[in-house]
Amino acid sequence: MFEGESESDALFRAEVRDWLEANLAEDLRNSPVKLTPAEIKPWFDQLLAQGWHAAHWPRQAGGMGASLPEQIILAEEFARIGAPETHATHALNLVGPVLIEFGTEAQKEKFLAPILNSEVIWCQGYSEPNAGSDLASLKTSAVLNGDSFVVNGQKIWTTMGNEAQWMFALVCTNPHAPKKQGGLSVILIDLASPGITRRPIKVLSGDDELAEEFFDDVQVPAENLVGELHDGWRVANSILGTERFTHGHPRHLTSVLGAVKRMARKTGAMDDAAFRDRLAGHEINVTAFTAYFRHALELTNADISPGWAASILKLYCTEEIQRLDDLLVEAAGGHGLDKDIVGTDEGGVDIMGRFLGDRRNTIGGGSREIQRNIISKRILGLPT
Ligand SMILES: Cc1cc2nc3c(=O)[nH]c(=O)nc-3n(C[C@H](O)[C@H](O)[C@H](O)COP(=O)(O)OP(=O)(O)OC[C@H]3O[C@@H](n4cnc5c(N)ncnc54)[C@H](O)[C@@H]3O)c2cc1C
Repeated sequence: MFEGESESDALFRAEVRDWLEANLAEDLRNSPVKLTPAEIKPWFDQLLAQGWHAAHWPRQAGGMGASLPEQIILAEEFARIGAPETHATHALNLVGPVLIEFGTEAQKEKFLAPILNSEVIWCQGYSEPNAGSDLASLKTSAVLNGDSFVVNGQKIWTTMGNEAQWMFALVCTNPHAPKKQGGLSVILIDLASPGITRRPIKVLSGDDELAEEFFDDVQVPAENLVGELHDGWRVANSILGTERFTHGHPRHLTSVLGAVKRMARKTGAMDDAAFRDRLAGHEINVTAFTAYFRHALELTNADISPGWAASILKLYCTEEIQRLDDLLVEAAGGHGLDKDIVGTDEGGVDIMGRFLGDRRNTIGGGSREIQRNIISKRILGLPT
């Protein structure tokens, strides 16, 4: 039992742990490569049958309606065993909850079940070539014309933009609004609509998870508006906090820490007292961060969070991941620059994939500089 955990939560943790040991296939644990939707499908179906795939969704929306401690337990136990994330994660964590809060009954009816069943992949279309940190400056326009919006413009850096069937997009519906934030709306765009061109973006680590999309007179039914017209800034921001919690989740740290230990045992770095000392320092950081994460989540859940915890979590977690990646390269010794997966007795590790891929974490979901600005202004009250 974890310190402070109630008896029923401890029982739930034991149940989750046993179930994962019995059900999660060995070759899906701590996979060093990103698994394809087809490879993950059997695992997702098991989770679906168990009812644990949408723990944070309310029961009426088809979720598990799990308590906060149960949600934390699930995430921690999934991380401990190295369970893969499903391709529905983005939609389950971001799109679904927003539709539950702001969507019309017709939108809930149409979109929630396919998200729950992982039948549809969603992406988030916020950033544009000249609107990332200064998101409110975005220019992609959606002009209401009868029953449809006509969309023109470009989105970029879209995660899963190549594979997604639908986009949750923030667009400009009133370029003359006195405050730019007041002229934005959120609409749901079917990416199979005529007038859309997609281009993959190859990144440092070699994958093409990101894409850019061009919109040329794309017709979007007016019923795909989420929330009120011109109230998109509020709707969009309700995702950003959740997104930063997702980026700042301790499971990311647990995963790299596990890889460092496996590698250090293989190469013998673990026998070096100086290395063990540094590793212990990071282990303490991860433990402390996990405790802070739980606390921040409890405050947020009780609606008593001042709202900035997400920025602290995102900033610390993504920077600590990069420090752990440095330690991984050190632990690997002569294998540190290997482009291929490096085998250990406890599974392979994609050292360069992690090292290069995790550079992006301090940018996506709001850059580290922007998180520091938020912390300095809203928490420390420093002058701008
Ligand atoms: C892996 C990854 C996934 C992403 N996924 C998505 C997605 O799914 N959907 C989506 O819409 N977007 C996505 N993005 C885009 C991401 O949100 C933006 O890249 C990010 O907000 C930064 O915007 P930008 O790239 O336009 O850089 P800019 O805003 O142009 O910033 C350039 C640099 O200037 C710094 N800077 C800017 N303004 C300030 C300031 N006021 N003070 C101090 N420094 C500043 C920034 O920190 C950065 O270092 C993703 C990005 C990455 C890397």
